[in-house]
Amino acid sequence: MSALTRAVTAAFAPAGALYQAEPAYRPRAGQIAMAEAVAETIEARGVLVAEAGTGVGKTYAYLVPALLSGQRVLVSTATRALQDQLFARDLPRLVHGLGLPLRMARLKGRSAYLCLERLDQVRQGRTAPQDPQVLRSVATVERWARTTLTGDLAELPALDERSPAVPLVTSTKDNCLGSDCPRWQDCHVNQARRQALEADVVVINHHLLFADLDVRESGVAQLLPSTGVVVIDEAHQLNDTGVQFAGEALSSQQLIAYARDVLRATQAHARGMADWLVLCATVEQAVRELRLQAEGTGAGASRLAWQGVTPLGLDAQRWRFALVRLGQSLRALLTPLAAMEDMAAELQRVYARGALLLSRLAGFAASADEDCVRWLEVGPRHLRMLASPLNIARVMRERLLGRSLEADEVPDGAKAEQAAWIFTSATLGSDAQLSWFTEPCGLRGARVLRVDSPFDYAHHAALYVPQPFAVPGSAAHSPQVAQLVREAAERIGGRTLVLTTTLKALNAIGEQLRQSLGLFSDLEVLVQGEGPKLALMERFMAAGAAAAFASVPSGVNGSTRRGCILVASATFWEGVDLPGDVLQLVVIDKLPFPPPDDPLVEARTRRLESVGRQAFHDYMLPEAAMALKQGAGRLIRSETDRGVLVVCDPRLQTMGYGAELMAALPPMRLLGSEDEFKNALDALAGGHSL
Ligand code: SF4
Repeated sequence: MSALTRAVTAAFAPAGALYQAEPAYRPRAGQIAMAEAVAETIEARGVLVAEAGTGVGKTYAYLVPALLSGQRVLVSTATRALQDQLFARDLPRLVHGLGLPLRMARLKGRSAYLCLERLDQVRQGRTAPQDPQVLRSVATVERWARTTLTGDLAELPALDERSPAVPLVTSTKDNCLGSDCPRWQDCHVNQARRQALEADVVVINHHLLFADLDVRESGVAQLLPSTGVVVIDEAHQLNDTGVQFAGEALSSQQLIAYARDVLRATQAHARGMADWLVLCATVEQAVRELRLQAEGTGAGASRLAWQGVTPLGLDAQRWRFALVRLGQSLRALLTPLAAMEDMAAELQRVYARGALLLSRLAGFAASADEDCVRWLEVGPRHLRMLASPLNIARVMRERLLGRSLEADEVPDGAKAEQAAWIFTSATLGSDAQLSWFTEPCGLRGARVLRVDSPFDYAHHAALYVPQPFAVPGSAAHSPQVAQLVREAAERIGGRTLVLTTTLKALNAIGEQLRQSLGLFSDLEVLVQGEGPKLALMERFMAAGAAAAFASVPSGVNGSTRRGCILVASATFWEGVDLPGDVLQLVVIDKLPFPPPDDPLVEARTRRLESVGRQAFHDYMLPEAAMALKQGAGRLIRSETDRGVLVVCDPRLQTMGYGAELMAALPPMRLLGSEDEFKNALDALAGGHSL
């Protein structure tokens, strides 16, 4: 046993450091097995893919060996919220418990930090907003700016991250003044990067990991060479995030903003040296003409797949003509800029930015690579061209891991330079190789570990598939889901989360629940989109806690307490952690197959079929299985939780592939009839076993 594994075993032993960190800590065999596997991987500088079911305690299972290794550690989480939770809660608690003098830092993308220079510009009226609500938000930022030490906008929960005030007070790579900035020394972005470079443990997010690959601008690229252990938590999101960020995009807004920035810069530093006004206006006009080509399709807000060199549904000749004109207008602007870029740093910056935009445009005008998918996003006032790799396998191997795991042994000398990589999540696949995750991420050949959840699903959870039931997609389906939800939620006093696969179903089910419950019901209906996710979750939890306090099931004796039904889609399928009695019923409207008309899904399907594989079996089905597992995972979050999962899609039982999807779910008892379902709900309402 190596020194690190011994130290890890000791930390998890009774009276070890874990007990210091967490008074309620109890040893769990799965957690210790995972921690030991992580320790071995760190020592071997290898790659481990570990699926750890809910309740295993995977955060401590990777943090303990990583922190004890003496190496610099980089931990990446899926979202900024998870990043904050790890940095503010789990990490300090553990560092303290282990008694290690480690410096910790958290690094986010630049849009998370206040830009002092841009705030100055707003103050001086150079970019002053007109909208009174935006003005109020900026005033809040201004007050907070006087006292914040980090400049992290997450310290201002009142500021919605989608607020139009945010771009006014944050920077982008394009508008940051760099070392010419008068606020360079006290800049929050620089400060966060400096702290990350000096820290022993740095917490980042997946976006940052990929956003940095080409531009090497966020500070992560500087961290990686000196990092000994990289942990990717919530790794199931890695491929999607990577595909989005390792790709390229070019938007009409970006091009118009560019033309306006050039005009500003040239008026300040090269006035009269070219007809800037006309040159910039010509670029803007060419952008508008390109946009018109897509608007002419009547596509509205949509995504158009790309075939050859033209998005589907557009007139190929007119599209190409508009692209060429845009390229010409950009080139015409760049020519005088190139001759004058030495006159001022700002001119140099706008020239470099323009050259990059032009090369992207040229990329979109040429044929796409084979392993790449392109599409066009058309909104009411914007147009965006996007290109993504079909998966991140190559990026992972060549740009991040720096090795191919399927190749023969890495020479020892090279190995000593490599970091150990740990990928973990509760949902990584349904086969022994966890292929759903390892294949698209280029990790076939990595060590794989599966640790089952310690929860007693057989006794604490049940699955109900109502039969007969309306066919998913039919007009009767959403009303029937709403009716089932209403009756069930009335029996247990709310405590119900409805997960839908489409926004259409989300709105239909939410609306019908409200109509049928009426204004004076005990039950409140919350629908995603009516407020920030956090606020909806807090409302749901507060209603659940109030209902538990009343301890009498709703509708039984006319008590006036309110329970809650939350109807949600997309982001609520994961990351919702509501332990206890607050949530006891999860209803999934239909099997979550990927939408076949999505350009990325279409391209992946075509690719698999072109090499003789079955897209449904090798791609659609595993995707649905993983999404179903994620959704079902919302139900049981602690050892004492009890609940019922309902899947309103008879195909789970009637189709041959249903067995494969069932196998992805935790081993729950199957409720065979409506009566059994009602009995189970009554048992939950009465606080009894299922
Ligand atoms: S250096 Fe860039 S991010 Fe920092 S204050 Fe200046 S403009 Fe803003």
